[in-house]
Amino acid sequence: MEKRTAIVIGAGIVGLATARALGQAGFSVKVFERNAKAIGASIRNFGMVWPIGQPMGKLYKRAMRSREIWMQISKITGIWSHACGSLHLAYSLEEWQVLKELAEIFKLEGRDVQLYSAEKIQAEYEYVQLNNLYGGLFSADELLVDPREALNQIPNYLSEQFGIEFYWNNCVNKIEDKVVYIGNKAAYSAEIIVVCSGMDFETLYPEVFESATITKCKLQMLRSVIQPNDFKLRTAICGGLSLLHYTSFKAAPSLATLHKKLKTEMDIYLSNGIHVMAAQNGINQITIGDSHEYGQSFDPFDKSYINQLILDYLQGILKIPNQAIEETWHGIYPKMTNGDTEMCLSPEPGVFIINGLGGAGMTLSFGLAEELIGEIIGK
Ligand SMILES: Cc1cc2nc3c(=O)[nH]c(=O)nc-3n(C[C@H](O)[C@H](O)[C@H](O)COP(=O)(O)OP(=O)(O)OC[C@H]3O[C@@H](n4cnc5c(N)ncnc54)[C@H](O)[C@@H]3O)c2cc1C
Repeated sequence: MEKRTAIVIGAGIVGLATARALGQAGFSVKVFERNAKAIGASIRNFGMVWPIGQPMGKLYKRAMRSREIWMQISKITGIWSHACGSLHLAYSLEEWQVLKELAEIFKLEGRDVQLYSAEKIQAEYEYVQLNNLYGGLFSADELLVDPREALNQIPNYLSEQFGIEFYWNNCVNKIEDKVVYIGNKAAYSAEIIVVCSGMDFETLYPEVFESATITKCKLQMLRSVIQPNDFKLRTAICGGLSLLHYTSFKAAPSLATLHKKLKTEMDIYLSNGIHVMAAQNGINQITIGDSHEYGQSFDPFDKSYINQLILDYLQGILKIPNQAIEETWHGIYPKMTNGDTEMCLSPEPGVFIINGLGGAGMTLSFGLAEELIGEIIGK
């Protein structure tokens, strides 16, 4: 029997996860990517697979399913991953109160979390700054991957595992009657076409993006030099500002009090959307970020004062042996403005757009793609 056919546009993590789900469902899949390799949001991120940020229910489940798929792929391909969990640190009574409330709530929800005292943190993570440290919340769920390696290697894995074909340097500029056009040429047709074009709202179905409740977010990031003497963080670290960032933390009754305090004392951080996280990769660099600026288009120039604010905050929580910065960059992701966690719609029969995963594409894409492709093909 002839295989059913599908085309995916975009080889970022959403496109790769979609191609994987289609391949697994038995489709013959072609992926078109306009660049020689994916250079969008998916290689610019921390590589944090981050269930702790997702509220209980379908999103946490989706994050845990994605984590499982990341671990399978890592095992098969040998791409680096580290199931190192995460540690949120509290440097004020208000932060500590929020962590204590979250620990209780998360435990009741069945998540693998523990409150750590300052003494325990000192004993286990000697590089954490102790001045004013109240304690921390450790969660075992979080997984780190290296996005540069992963986005490079997963296409090879998908080709080998499912026979998926990748067409690099092929910008799809039109889709009509289930035919994709590269330049003026009708190139290929398929039964199902899925557009996973990330921040590019201009090329395909601009009218859909224009009328959708979606915007863009620019984030500044930094990466340290390789740390000396095999220094290891051994977990992913977040400061108190991150407590304002993730939806799952809204469950803490004292979050509003913390928000008020941080707004009064650190408004420059809040107004630049800064929260500070540090994740070490497989070659011992430390990825540090980030800021959040929303809009439809952005100044292309990164702001050094934002990077400095991030580094100043980091110094208050971590003693990193070599703080020299090797790389800085920014990334842009689309984000829903109506509270939805993604957008999946069909602009014409057989064509689907999956976008708008915001700051959680590495965390949710694999699970989401399985669910959506299941719905689309009626399984
Ligand atoms: C700085 C930063 C840090 C982040 N940290 C995390 C994190 O730690 N954990 C987490 O879960 N998420 C994180 N995110 C979010 C995550 O990176 C995004 O949700 C995710 O990468 C979005 O994936 P995507 O495939 O939609 O977009 P992209 O990765 O941008 O991919 C879209 C691809 O489509 C291609 N394309 C577009 N139009 C066409 C066309 N017409 N023809 C052919 N190809 C086309 C583009 O070239 C691009 O390669 C972060 C994001 C940023 C920017």
